Amino acid sequence: MTAVPRETDLFVVGGGPAGLAAAIAARDKGLRVVVAESAREGPIDKACGEGLMPDSLAALGSLGVDAGSSPGYPFAGIRFLGEGHSVEARFGPHCGLGIRRTALHQLLVQHALDRGVSILWGATVRALAHDAVELEGRRIRCRWIAGADGGNSTVRRWAGLDAGMSEKHRYGFRRHYALQPWDEFMEIHWGRACQVYVTPVAERELCVAVISRNPKLRLDEALSCFPDLSEKLASAPITSRERGAVSASRTLPRVRAGNVFLVGDASGSVDAITGEGLCLAFQQAAALADALARGEPRLYQDAHDRIRRRPALMADLMLLLDNRGWLRRRALSSLSLRPALFGHLLAAHAGAVPVTRLAGSMMALGWTMVFGV
Ligand SMILES: Cc1cc2nc3c(=O)[nH]c(=O)nc-3n(C[C@H](O)[C@H](O)[C@H](O)COP(=O)(O)OP(=O)(O)OC[C@H]3O[C@@H](n4cnc5c(N)ncnc54)[C@H](O)[C@@H]3O)c2cc1C
Repeated sequence: MTAVPRETDLFVVGGGPAGLAAAIAARDKGLRVVVAESAREGPIDKACGEGLMPDSLAALGSLGVDAGSSPGYPFAGIRFLGEGHSVEARFGPHCGLGIRRTALHQLLVQHALDRGVSILWGATVRALAHDAVELEGRRIRCRWIAGADGGNSTVRRWAGLDAGMSEKHRYGFRRHYALQPWDEFMEIHWGRACQVYVTPVAERELCVAVISRNPKLRLDEALSCFPDLSEKLASAPITSRERGAVSASRTLPRVRAGNVFLVGDASGSVDAITGEGLCLAFQQAAALADALARGEPRLYQDAHDRIRRRPALMADLMLLLDNRGWLRRRALSSLSLRPALFGHLLAAHAGAVPVTRLAGSMMALGWTMVFGV
């Protein structure tokens, strides 16, 4: 059983990807770190599309975590399919990685332990005090507290940081199939009322996820809208039970109150369709450790705002396609006519080119959508 320290520099509430990344980054800056996680043991599974974009891998790499050493499957780019069209683009020199959520969690736990982070399993934080946290009758003194307790964060509520918060929900379900990936792309299938995305996660395993506005839309019903994909999956054994989760677009005016900081989904999130949730968590973790180590905690808010900007913009663009059928039809047919534009949008999405350089591509896309050339 892990010895429980009486005090620490940083206390992290939640041992999901964001909490562990924050712990790793803070340990690397020389801080003493304790993580409390409600789950009794790891690795923790969660409904997820399980795709790490190249920018997510870079963010992990900057924390000293090489995801390439874990079981996973690289993908070279993204393909959009829908409305009778298909368009694909490669990321460029760097690949993304499909990785089972449990494998990613195990990797992060190992890195945290190797660096000397104290992880308390089966430890639910019950309350915060000014310079301490309370868990099951124990009190641990700390200088700073990171709330990495996910989308329904109680730390956020206790710290009064959900005032002025805005949020919209969609709903995701995922399942795994024992099937060899048919090629090196992650696919997003656009339907009238949902998107289904397919991520290769191993030599013989695919993660298939549906996201929609309908909390009752499960994978079987969603797949019936995509006959080509259904046929490919029909004879493949299903290797995991269907898991669901809320995909929230959540914005907070502030992510810090005194010595309490929010990280990961607790600090706001972009729709899951972007595949950027984990990237945000890893980048925020590094920014928080940097701000604390410099002794300038206020820097974290600015960094958080900056980190969120690009994924939030790309999420807005993608959700427009979800919302408006005529726009989706036009956009998919235009992008299939001009795949280089799709490549440019993908490069901006994955952070390889600044979004400020998208204006030309957006105008060219608009032209093709209106005039068909
Ligand atoms: C359908 C779907 C598909 C997605 N696909 C992708 C994708 O392909 N790529 C991508 O990058 N992102 C994806 N995301 C987003 C990604 O899953 C999240 O951004 C990520 O899980 C956020 O991690 P987190 O650590 O902030 O939160 P969580 O993973 O929710 O972890 C929070 C942890 O805190 C613990 N906890 C809560 N309260 C307490 C407490 N009081 N005391 C102690 N512990 C506590 C919980 O047990 C949990 O382990 C997807 C999301 C959804 C819903």
